Amino acid sequence: MTSSSVIRRRLLILDDDPLIGQTMMSIAGLAGLEARYTAHPAEFFRVVEEWNPTHIALDLVMPEMDGVQVIQDLALRGCRAAIIITSGVGARVLDAAGRLAAEHGLNIIGVLAKPFTPARLRQLLLSDFPVAPGSSAPVAAPGVGCASAALPDAEDLRQALRSGAIVPYYQPKVVCATGALAGFEVLARWRHPECGLIHPARFIPLAEANGLIDALTLHVTEQALHWFAPLCATVDGTDGIGVPSMPGAGVQLAVNISARTLSNTALFEEVRDQCRRLGVAPERLSFELTESSAMDDPTASLDLLTRLRMQGFHLALDDFGTGFSSMVQLVRLPFSELKIDKSFVMTAMHSEESRTVTRFIVDLGRSLGLRCTAEGVEDVHILAYLQAIGCDLAQGYAIARPMPGDVALRWMQQRAWVR
Ligand code: C2E
Ligand code: CA
Ligand code: CA
Repeated sequence: MTSSSVIRRRLLILDDDPLIGQTMMSIAGLAGLEARYTAHPAEFFRVVEEWNPTHIALDLVMPEMDGVQVIQDLALRGCRAAIIITSGVGARVLDAAGRLAAEHGLNIIGVLAKPFTPARLRQLLLSDFPVAPGSSAPVAAPGVGCASAALPDAEDLRQALRSGAIVPYYQPKVVCATGALAGFEVLARWRHPECGLIHPARFIPLAEANGLIDALTLHVTEQALHWFAPLCATVDGTDGIGVPSMPGAGVQLAVNISARTLSNTALFEEVRDQCRRLGVAPERLSFELTESSAMDDPTASLDLLTRLRMQGFHLALDDFGTGFSSMVQLVRLPFSELKIDKSFVMTAMHSEESRTVTRFIVDLGRSLGLRCTAEGVEDVHILAYLQAIGCDLAQGYAIARPMPGDVALRWMQQRAWVR
């Protein structure tokens, strides 16, 4: 990369107090950033579009528009700038706003209570932050390359399933204490000829609403099992004895299951048959369910989930901490893993509350004998924190983003050499 291609950081400030705006501009200028300031939301969004800031400092409480509205709007525009939330409101409100923004998929790098010190702002502005590789501009939300009139509909999705345009990506999970590879989560992607790569938030709800989710789950799981089976074979050998030094030893594959699929016992039988045919032991496969989906029909879920566990499959409770179900249900259903919702993990470094929730879930998991995975691990400091509190597994951009199958295999082999 030539030095001219290194893009300078650009900070855009939205704050109704001009004095704060000017102070932030000066601090940013001294730190080597270009900076612009506005007090008006309409102008702010215009500059976001035209200037593509790499960083945004956002005041939470303003007379014309509140910060929550700005957060929602930025999320709708698919903004990937590094966002710093500022305000004079109490730490709890600031923390909640930080989590809200993270839940909307925004890239929150810090929450700054006013009054703040220049050193703290400078530190945030100069820290490394996860932007899309090779780009400092906001990355369009997946699929926003499509004009909204041309947004894919159910028929397009049906066609995509037939033509093989729905493909699995793989994101690694690693052991917090050692960094060893523990498994991969399968995440569906739609390779759309006009819209580019469409992320699941855009098409899973479409699949669910149009009776296509089971077909999608089977399609993705089948491809993933074919990708995964050779990994099991290379390490398990014919005598079933794993060789721990091989990259695929003990590695698990996790697939996501929607609420509706829980009533389709035939689908799970089909997956079990596929595992048999491909020589993948059920212990290698984990089904991830969201807290709300697992609780929709507790009795039916209990039947099916117990049967799956008895067959050897693993069950993970996804997005834990965000639902409204009681602890009783959690204890009642036979989960083997808890996944801490990424809104807590992503904000753990700058929110005491997020750290408390994360620690609480790790402790809860431990006392229930469940494996605990933190997802949304975006920097190494969070990884160190998770290690310190005894979290089992970590998943997130700091380790690797979801990758196509061939890239994931190369990633795995490269890591095997460096360990
Ligand atoms: P999930 O199961 O909670 O998956 C984790 C999501 O977090 C993935 O989003 C992943 O790309 C993202 N992620 C991982 N690490 C980080 C990180 O460090 N920072 C941030 N900001 N995000 C991170 P993705 O791939 O967009 O999937 C969204 C959701 O769509 C999944 O959430 C899952 O609920 C659903 N989904 C994906 N594939 C399937 C599928 O095949 N079937 C069903 N039923 N649902 C799926
Ligand atoms: Ca999941
Ligand atoms: Ca999750």
